[in-house]
Amino acid sequence: MKVDRYHRQSRVAVIGQAGQNRLAASRVLLIGCGALGTVIAEQLVRGGVGWLRIADRDLVELTNLQRQVLFDEADAAESIPKAIAAKRRLSVINSTLPIDPQVLDVNATNIEMLCGLTDRQTPVDLILDGTDNAAIRYLINDVSVKHGIPWVYGACVGTEGRVAAVVPGVGPCLRCLFEAPPPAGSLATCDTAGVLASVAAMVASMQVVYALKFLMGEAKKGHLPLWSLDPWAGRIRAVSTEGGRREDCPCCGKKQFEFLEANQIDLMARLCGRQSVQILPAKKVTLNLMDVGQQLELVGKVERKPYFLRCQLTDPAGIGLTVFPDGRVLVHGMEDTARAKSICARFLAI
Ligand SMILES: [Zn+2]
Repeated sequence: MKVDRYHRQSRVAVIGQAGQNRLAASRVLLIGCGALGTVIAEQLVRGGVGWLRIADRDLVELTNLQRQVLFDEADAAESIPKAIAAKRRLSVINSTLPIDPQVLDVNATNIEMLCGLTDRQTPVDLILDGTDNAAIRYLINDVSVKHGIPWVYGACVGTEGRVAAVVPGVGPCLRCLFEAPPPAGSLATCDTAGVLASVAAMVASMQVVYALKFLMGEAKKGHLPLWSLDPWAGRIRAVSTEGGRREDCPCCGKKQFEFLEANQIDLMARLCGRQSVQILPAKKVTLNLMDVGQQLELVGKVERKPYFLRCQLTDPAGIGLTVFPDGRVLVHGMEDTARAKSICARFLAI
């Protein structure tokens, strides 16, 4: 047998050379490239996944470095978008694989494109959830069930984690297990309760085990348990999902994809971390950042970065804008979505 870079993986009995070849032919979408996503991406790329698309809207910050294993101080100092920084690092680790970074806010208007379901793309075989956002998980669940693409859920906060897999048409979907997302602000997040890097790495590694089972064709045969763990407390539990599928589930039972069909107006402005509002244009736009920068220089201090532009407004003072080429704007220094929209209308005509 040929000894290549994947030798120690293909030697594993459950993988074998046939499994390695299947992995090399597989296409994966990773949504969210933070604590979970960076570990997932690194393992898949080291392991020889065929093609990986990474979608993330955020920029690398200093507080990410404790757990987000693909990033370093230079990425944080330059505020590089996470998807771009991840691709750079992953390409150094394994230069033989195609990685497609997408710097954008994943929402109902673009998730089918990201899954390869539009524009004559090849659909992905699997979606991995690396987000820290309940609403996006329900959107992933809708697209998964509608198009029959399996997905693996992962969550962690503090010392606890959870992993589950959805096999559309076989096992329960996310809405069979938890019918609705928790009310906004009701759950602890990594921003409020922190997270141990080791717990995040455990959750992400378990997601990759499930991912490999899917890509090997193993997972479709049975129901994968839902894992719940708190290694600090010495607890790890596998909850069977057998019989968890509900006939009256709005998503997989009644085929109502309300998150995918959400009113686009709702997507336009939303709170995005502390003291920041994200504004999305109602229609697809492409901004020329050179032109936008020239306009904003008249009203504030502009900083140009390779993938976005920042402006600290002179008046109103204390308000900053981060503008991306796809028309997305982060308004910093406020939590009032209506006021953030009016700032965008005033200074950017968006
Ligand atoms: Zn369901």
